[in-house]
Amino acid sequence: MRAEDHNRNAPFPTSFGGAGATPFAARVRIVGGGLTGILAAFQAHHLGARNIELFERLDQLGGVAQPHSQDGREMRDGCHYFGPQGDPIRELLEEHGARFQDFDNRFGAVSQSLDNPAIAQDFGGPALAGSNIELAPLAGRTLGDRLACYDDELRAPLERYVRWHVGCEPSELHADAAHPLAINRVYPKGASLDALWQAKRSNPLADDLFGIPRGLWGYTTNAKASLPVGGFTALFEQCRAALAAIGVRVHDRKLANPKTLLAEDAPGDTLVWAASPIPLFKAMGLPVPRAPAPKFATYTFEVNWKGPTPVYFHNFTAEGACFRAYIYESAGSTLLTAECVTKCDENELVRDIYRLLDHFEGALTIGALQFKSIKPRWLYHSVETIDSLEQLRRALKARMGDRFVAGAWETYAKGAKFVEVEADLRRALEITLALEAI
Ligand SMILES: Cc1cc2nc3c(=O)[nH]c(=O)nc-3n(C[C@H](O)[C@H](O)[C@H](O)COP(=O)(O)OP(=O)(O)OC[C@H]3O[C@@H](n4cnc5c(N)ncnc54)[C@H](O)[C@@H]3O)c2cc1C
Repeated sequence: MRAEDHNRNAPFPTSFGGAGATPFAARVRIVGGGLTGILAAFQAHHLGARNIELFERLDQLGGVAQPHSQDGREMRDGCHYFGPQGDPIRELLEEHGARFQDFDNRFGAVSQSLDNPAIAQDFGGPALAGSNIELAPLAGRTLGDRLACYDDELRAPLERYVRWHVGCEPSELHADAAHPLAINRVYPKGASLDALWQAKRSNPLADDLFGIPRGLWGYTTNAKASLPVGGFTALFEQCRAALAAIGVRVHDRKLANPKTLLAEDAPGDTLVWAASPIPLFKAMGLPVPRAPAPKFATYTFEVNWKGPTPVYFHNFTAEGACFRAYIYESAGSTLLTAECVTKCDENELVRDIYRLLDHFEGALTIGALQFKSIKPRWLYHSVETIDSLEQLRRALKARMGDRFVAGAWETYAKGAKFVEVEADLRRALEITLALEAI
């Protein structure tokens, strides 16, 4: 199911859900105060739960979407967008007082090389010079297998980009890593648009692997996106107030210990694990998988930009260090965050950003560096990690049944995460309600 097809207000076999929900007393414990945990708390309440606790190891909610705040301005690590009106996540947050502002979703990509680039406007994936759209059948589960479907001319620059971006071979990653790497759809610039369009319509693999820039085929689904009014810090403060208003007990600076939580499990309790699942492996006596977690450096500059905001530009050339430059407004300043595959020299970075943006409309002057940080990102899974997570789910299901809700650990996009967690939460709470009715 696509996130936009999801209806979280769909009727239940029982009377719960929405204003007429049957309240119930059993506990819902949620680990992780990122977006997934916050949404799970709101949705659990919507479904009738009235005894909800949320554990967050830090003193702020928001997880990876919570920016560092400096002089009232948000130093964002990357671009976290919400959908336009009608986005189920946004709707749920709006029900709890959050406000969003739509904007024209603008982005671009540079591929091939920075000096002799292939440019794509309003296309977030690589636009490559190849013309051959014949695909080899998909022969396995790794990203290497996925890329091997393409003709050599398209495959080689994609492999180079993966090595540069994550620092490992495509064969070491699961095929779904294509999504956080933004190479899930490739535009072969040399192909005829008609042929490409026909291929996408007639062959699901071609539809999955090829994309066409929005303006060239009238695709409008992602033409609008939204951001929280007042920024992310305001959004998460609003969420905290809304959680308190519905009686959710938020425990800050509380690193949840899986052994303790599992030991305290009572019949009818639901446990939602919307945080890193790594500690659960030990608690369940399972080997911890090796998880690729590259450390990315982000640099936020004050800039003068004559062009639309927010906007971002992706670099698929595997040159320099910056893989994405994101320009946004925060508290009256225009800021540019450069997400980089590694720490780099500031002057070289500034030069590379100019080279990257030189190919797009708008005029940029980069000012002083405001903030830099280095953080690992647990977004690119190996096949081994995916299999280990499946084993972990089975072990937890054997112990708690459907009352254990995994926080969509493997899934990247927040819309898809929400759909998965919401469905699992409904199943868990139906069990609770049935138990209380006995
Ligand atoms: C830079 C970046 C950009 C992204 N951009 C997008 C995007 O544009 N669109 C999109 O859909 N997705 C994007 N993602 C994916 C993103 O991961 C999800 O969209 C979503 O924000 C993740 O929320 P989460 O709550 O699942 O995880 P997190 O935000 O990681 O939250 C987990 C929380 O759990 C807490 N925690 C961890 N362990 C424990 C413990 N033992 N006890 C208590 N608390 C604990 C952490 O402190 C954290 O607050 C992006 C990710 C990154 C890193």
